[in-house]
Amino acid sequence: MIGAGIIGLAAAWWLQRCGHAVVLVDPASHGPQPEGSGSSAALGVLMGEVFHRSSGRAWQLRQQSLQLWQQWCAELATAGQPVPHRQGLLLLAASAQEQERLEALALNRQALGMAMELWQRPALEALCPALPRGALAGLFSPRDGQLDPLAAMAAFRHDGQARGLELRADRVAALERRNGRWHLSLQGGGGLEAPWVLVAAGLASPALLAPLGHERPLEPVLGQAAELEVGPELTTTWPASVVWRGINLVPRPQRRLWLGATLEPGLSADPARWNALRQLEGEAPEWLAGACVLRRWQGLRARPVGRPAPLLELLEPGLLLLSGHYRNGVLLAPASAAWAAELIATASP
Ligand SMILES: Cc1cc2nc3c(=O)[nH]c(=O)nc-3n(C[C@H](O)[C@H](O)[C@H](O)COP(=O)(O)OP(=O)(O)OC[C@H]3O[C@@H](n4cnc5c(N)ncnc54)[C@H](O)[C@@H]3O)c2cc1C
Repeated sequence: MIGAGIIGLAAAWWLQRCGHAVVLVDPASHGPQPEGSGSSAALGVLMGEVFHRSSGRAWQLRQQSLQLWQQWCAELATAGQPVPHRQGLLLLAASAQEQERLEALALNRQALGMAMELWQRPALEALCPALPRGALAGLFSPRDGQLDPLAAMAAFRHDGQARGLELRADRVAALERRNGRWHLSLQGGGGLEAPWVLVAAGLASPALLAPLGHERPLEPVLGQAAELEVGPELTTTWPASVVWRGINLVPRPQRRLWLGATLEPGLSADPARWNALRQLEGEAPEWLAGACVLRRWQGLRARPVGRPAPLLELLEPGLLLLSGHYRNGVLLAPASAAWAAELIATASP
């Protein structure tokens, strides 16, 4: 396995659990990831059911992931590696058009038998002043939610190691197929050999694959986020993680709130986008506007060019790509891992 972000760690853990001997290679295999990596910057919001489609591959992956996260969190907790996980997501409508969209989504999901509630103004009033006053309506999705990505990665790493997962702190310099097996050259010297190689190196995946003739370009989309210290309003009335104008507000223990994330194509952060985020696009409730910023960070998402996210592909015998998860790598980590395990179980390398 190449890459110890949330995708590589989840897949390594799951494959080890399925009975495979897995070696996970990443300069940061023992953690933490370098600053700016996707997984350690993520807010962990799981948008499985509040998705604009209700069929197709992306929908199936989201459904499967939600279910697997439930199971996996329970299993990891039993193994002494709890992953803080909070169910429920409230999407707020900032315009009549958005309200219409949420109403249509609620009807569609209810027709599919899903428990999704549309909250009108009176229900939202009860949550003020915690919510932005401009909210016209809300869609509450009880099965979606949020989990702590750093805790999830630590849990996969520790439980994986307890099950025999080998962590190698090195960088893969090149891949080559010889006599039906994959040879990995490591930057630190030496190499590894295996029947299967899974490339989960995020934005660095294309550089490993291009010499093999597989062009899978990924473009970086930067996200800025912050942790704030907030007053008691949040702890008493806040129903769940909230999404307002595409911005996530994630309640955290000890009166903390995660706020994020901007969507900025490219590698550099724009201070104006930070200001807009901090002010909740000009609609920050008083308590939020006055809250103290404890920590700010940024990270890069990998967006596939010319292909839908994520890239889950068998590129040639024994070579799997799990990358390009763009905005939903935390959500889709379990389904990506399950996809790889199923493929390895049914195909020969
Ligand atoms: C600010 C922000 C907020 C986000 N919020 C959410 C959210 O709320 N919900 C959600 O689902 N998703 C969210 N995402 C998206 C999510 O973080 C990504 O989709 C996910 O982290 C991608 O994980 P990854 O493992 O593919 O990549 P990465 O986390 O980038 O990991 C790739 C790893 O590969 C390693 N690597 C690179 N090259 C090599 C090499 N040659 N050899 C060995 N190792 C190598 C790197 O060191 C790195 O550790 C967010 C992203 C950002 C930036």
